Amino acid sequence: MIAAKSYLGKKVAVMGLARSGQSVAEALKAGGAEVIAWDDDVKKCRETALLGINISDLTKEDFTNIDALILSPGIPHSYPKPHVVAKKAKKANTPIIGDIEVFVKNFVEPRIIGITGTNGKSTTTALVGHILRCAGLPVEIGGNIGLPVLGFENTLDAGYQVLELSSYQLELTPSLCCEIAVILNISPDHLDRHGGMDGYKAAKLKIMESLPENAIAIIGVDDPESIGIAKWLTENEYKNLRVTPISGLVVPENGVGVLNGNIVSNINCENEVVISLHDNTILPGAHNWQNVAAGTAVALTLGISNDIIKNAISSFPGLPHRQELVGTFNRLTFINDSKATNADATARALSCYESIYWILGGQSKEGGIGLLSNFFPKIRHAFLIGECSNEFADVLKGVVKFTNCGTIQNAIEKNKK
Ligand code: ADP
Repeated sequence: MIAAKSYLGKKVAVMGLARSGQSVAEALKAGGAEVIAWDDDVKKCRETALLGINISDLTKEDFTNIDALILSPGIPHSYPKPHVVAKKAKKANTPIIGDIEVFVKNFVEPRIIGITGTNGKSTTTALVGHILRCAGLPVEIGGNIGLPVLGFENTLDAGYQVLELSSYQLELTPSLCCEIAVILNISPDHLDRHGGMDGYKAAKLKIMESLPENAIAIIGVDDPESIGIAKWLTENEYKNLRVTPISGLVVPENGVGVLNGNIVSNINCENEVVISLHDNTILPGAHNWQNVAAGTAVALTLGISNDIIKNAISSFPGLPHRQELVGTFNRLTFINDSKATNADATARALSCYESIYWILGGQSKEGGIGLLSNFFPKIRHAFLIGECSNEFADVLKGVVKFTNCGTIQNAIEKNKK
């Protein structure tokens, strides 16, 4: 664990006590800060108290004598409306930051490979970590996945930290310093939290702002927003970055992409096949090929050989809940893609299969499921669960056969029949 000494002798409040909240509280305490912590969930408060952290209702605290508020990225500080604790901190001019900011300020010599995008962040982060490990490089994987960053090994030869960075985390990390930054793609998501598309894009751009002069910026060029960013960085010679375009559809000039199902590098201005993805069942679809292109671009940038990259991609086990093959039952193949939490991600997965029995539910996001209508002819039957079942039913009515199941258990039973 990192002892976060940058707040030695200072008073710090931690709001939100999931894994990363608990670890930042412990790291700050170990570094000599006076820490008070709170979560709206009493159970989390109890758990954290057992770690020796002082629990105090932050909604009642006087923030004028608190030096920083460490806010869990899931808690709103601006839009749609600030949580009461964030509001109090702002009023008292107390800086609001996240655990990654504390990590950056206290890690001996961070060598961060930062990965963001609307979709594919976890897959790409895990893949980059896997390739680096296969290359024998010391590496830690964290941020939105894996270990909370304050649990990393804090030594001079710690190697690389491959971090999945959400838009929320990027907003809370003003001192971020990536060595390599990746934006995979941008489509509307979490707009309520960013006050609209401009706010969302601005948050994503912070990863590029975190780069030093002449660093490597890897950017997807399969959607208009990301293309716009790549173009803007290049035309304005922003920080003299080496903009490396990546794609799951074509081979971009000076970048890494796909040709006839092969991952191809054009980084040296000549096409070079790195690996064929034809038979790769773990990473199916152009979206996953975009993730592989990004991983390959990072690895090539670090000087890792084609052979190592190829073997690493072939041995990548995939991540649970992302187009995960769960098993087969009679003639049905069960795929768990429950991490697809917006229409774009879901579309990518639907595009990979035919004759689909589709369990869907949860909250409706920007645009709802109407955006998926191109795939409706492939749906044999839809099984609706959760909060927005009625809204989804309205869209499917008369177009796709569906059953309102209420729960995932019911949906699976009905699917078996
Ligand atoms: P994130 O961490 O950004 O949520 P994940 O890697 O966890 O992304 O993937 C979540 C889901 O998004 C996957 O299950 C798949 O359906 C879809 N997906 C994965 N990679 C991409 C991509 N590059 N573009 C669009 N959708 C993707």
